[in-house]
Amino acid sequence: MSLILIAYLVFLGAKTAAQLSLSWLNRREMLRHKDAVPAKYADHVKWEDYQKSVAYSLENSKFSLLTKPYDVVWELLWVLGLYACIYAWASQWIGLDAGTAGWSATWRESVICVAMIFLMSLTDLPLDLYETFKIEEKHGFNKTTPRLWVFDQLKGWALEFIIGVPVASLLIGFYHLFPDTWWIFAQCAFFVIQLFLMVLYPKLILPLFNKLTPLPEGELKTELVALAEKAGFVADKIEVIDSSKRSGHSNAYFSGFGKWRRIVLFDTLIKQLEPKEICAVLAHEIGHSKKGHITKHLFLSFFLGFLAFGLVAAILRWPAFFEAFGFEYRQNLMIVPAFFLVSEFASLIAFWISPLSAFLSRKHEYEADAYAKQLLGNGEALVSGLRKLNKENLSNLTPHPFYVNFYYSHPTLEQRTKALRSN
Ligand SMILES: [Zn+2]
Repeated sequence: MSLILIAYLVFLGAKTAAQLSLSWLNRREMLRHKDAVPAKYADHVKWEDYQKSVAYSLENSKFSLLTKPYDVVWELLWVLGLYACIYAWASQWIGLDAGTAGWSATWRESVICVAMIFLMSLTDLPLDLYETFKIEEKHGFNKTTPRLWVFDQLKGWALEFIIGVPVASLLIGFYHLFPDTWWIFAQCAFFVIQLFLMVLYPKLILPLFNKLTPLPEGELKTELVALAEKAGFVADKIEVIDSSKRSGHSNAYFSGFGKWRRIVLFDTLIKQLEPKEICAVLAHEIGHSKKGHITKHLFLSFFLGFLAFGLVAAILRWPAFFEAFGFEYRQNLMIVPAFFLVSEFASLIAFWISPLSAFLSRKHEYEADAYAKQLLGNGEALVSGLRKLNKENLSNLTPHPFYVNFYYSHPTLEQRTKALRSN
């Protein structure tokens, strides 16, 4: 067995062990607190709501623990030979051999690349079905019908090919045109495409799945517009998304940049919160914009992209790397396997830096909360809004601190309340 393969197995084993330990710790923490509302929440969380959130959190944690072996087995199958096998067969079928080069290799490799991503995603379907129609259904969140679910998948797959093949062709085309420096061009092009997709997504892609409407005139809109004006924020882009047709979960988010920035409120959020609480949520979202969080995120992903493409370029010159995973090394025809192997290794490494990225994300959430507090004069409306959101979404109120540090992109309700009420 090659050292490269051993390194992969060690990394995968370490990641899996860490994930299972974190899930187990988190579950133990839920069980430890399940018989009574913890004292720190006793003043505002009702026993019956607490029981619901415990039941939902426990069921989710059981699901993730039980399905972990399924995920790992599939990952091993793909990496240890299934991908290489199907790739070899698909190459032969589509006519990708030593004689193909330039454009002729480019489009064939792109089609195989996207088809492989599609195939690998199929193993998630049974889990998604169970989650949607069993767990979410049982806890009153699921609003999706089987028909809508099927159409969602079909549309998603169609988009994967319509967008994926041209994008892959562009990146792979650079490789065949400039074998040495391609990865710099590829990352720049990839970044520009990401920016375009951020702008085009709400206009072209999101409408295929959801309806976005401008927030209707009324008390809520008047208050939100007044708040946005006070913050010096262009407010004509406050939109409502009909998320309730799929799920009862509620949220709000901010996306885009420059004149394409927009704030999207879930219709479920509008039903669950009072206007002054929605104002506080909006103030928080404006905070993300004012503090330049999207720009920071873009810069970071730009540099990480260079790292990823640079790794692909480095691995391409290393035949033993491919042979370790069952690929036949063919000069100039290894870019798709290289994408696959780098993404597999990247996900193993990314796990260990997830505490850092989660920390950065939580830092941004604190900053946006602080901005909202300053804009509104105090943090009380946001506190009451967050409490309602936690209640409606049956959020786990007693996560283990290690689990929070590793995975939570948002501070817990308790942490946010504390920060909003401090001076
Ligand atoms: Zn936020």
